[in-house]
Amino acid sequence: MIILNTAQEMRDWSTRAWAKGQQIGFVPTMGALHEGHASLMRAAVAENNGAVLSIFVNPAQFAPHEDFGRYPRTFDADCALADDLGVAAVYAPAAEAMYPPDYSSYVEVGGVSEGLCGASRPHFYRGVCTVVTKLFNAVKPHRAYFGQKDAQQTAVIRRMVRDLDMDIEIIEMPIVREADGLAMSSRNRYLSPEERERALALSRSLQIARTAMADGERDADTLITQVREALEPVRVDYVALVDTVTMEPVTTIKQPVLLAIAAYVGNTRLIDNIKFIPPDAH
Ligand code: AMP
Repeated sequence: MIILNTAQEMRDWSTRAWAKGQQIGFVPTMGALHEGHASLMRAAVAENNGAVLSIFVNPAQFAPHEDFGRYPRTFDADCALADDLGVAAVYAPAAEAMYPPDYSSYVEVGGVSEGLCGASRPHFYRGVCTVVTKLFNAVKPHRAYFGQKDAQQTAVIRRMVRDLDMDIEIIEMPIVREADGLAMSSRNRYLSPEERERALALSRSLQIARTAMADGERDADTLITQVREALEPVRVDYVALVDTVTMEPVTTIKQPVLLAIAAYVGNTRLIDNIKFIPPDAH
């Protein structure tokens, strides 16, 4: 496995891969890898003949009060895992090279990025879309793999790729959870044992809603109230029931929906979600 640190090196590697007719599968991450990231890497390795992992803690997607400075960084262990899984190249650019002092270009996606995490973190998707565009331009992938854990992010990237005519297939992989249901996240490392226990309210609340939807409940207010009650041990940022593609709020479920939550456990902000497709969806 090769480690590439500049966009030029990355582009040269990809140009050679394209010339050999290889398909490139790309997994963008901020590192501190866990089994959720591993599932994306496994898919990228299996479905392509050159998998690229990027590790970049993107300053453009953090607000000044957020956790950029203390975000976990475990580069050597991340590379060892990627190597084990058969990743061909790790792209790990330096922040100063990605954003020189006179940097002034940003990618903004309207609509789909405005609710949910976009409302709570107004800077967030502009930072994500900008860095993902830069990473796509360096890696030149045929396919890119994202996790349903960040379902709005996948929807925003899909819209960006469609609107800007990027010739890249976006693949969303299921959420990988701990045995007790907690969605895996690099930020779970911040949790104390007591917070780790309380954090289970997120996945439990979604399970309650999943059962209610399977039993025929279709009213968004009813479902959201049930989820909020189950989230009593944590501080809710949002609970939202939205269309899976547009991220527009839904009042009565008739189409595939995303039930998404964000909540603070102590100082740590966690997100989780489920998707539900009604059997009679049109
Ligand atoms: P991050 O490093 O947190 O920015 O995440 C990089 C990619 O891994 C994103 O596409 C995430 O959605 C995905 N990811 C993070 N956690 C999980 C998980 N528990 N299951 C599946 N994918 C995940």
